[in-house]
Amino acid sequence: MFFFFVGGISPQVRQVLKPDAARCIRCGSLADLVEEEKVLKLFFVPVWRWLGKEPVIYCNNCSTFFPPSTSLPPPPSHMPSPPDGLRCHSCARVVDPQFSFCPYCGYSL
Ligand SMILES: [Zn+2]
Ligand SMILES: [Zn+2]
Repeated sequence: MFFFFVGGISPQVRQVLKPDAARCIRCGSLADLVEEEKVLKLFFVPVWRWLGKEPVIYCNNCSTFFPPSTSLPPPPSHMPSPPDGLRCHSCARVVDPQFSFCPYCGYSL
């Protein structure tokens, strides 16, 4: 029991693997995929450190670690196709209505 009062294990970011990989489950801001390092501290002095088994998501905003499986997906980096877009009759992909040929398969629209 003594150790619980003078030390503890705290996670730290060792290396950022992928910035903005997910969103924080607590504050909703962008969070990084990081390599986690656990540090054992006794009397507030780091005495031992070892690597986390798996990459985790770390939020800079509220300093929270959480597993990637519980994180929210990152916001989409590209706009989804407009719902009123033209659909190619050949490959069924959404094509800009201004095109006269499908950019994916070359089918005449
Ligand atoms: Zn957060
Ligand atoms: Zn097509």
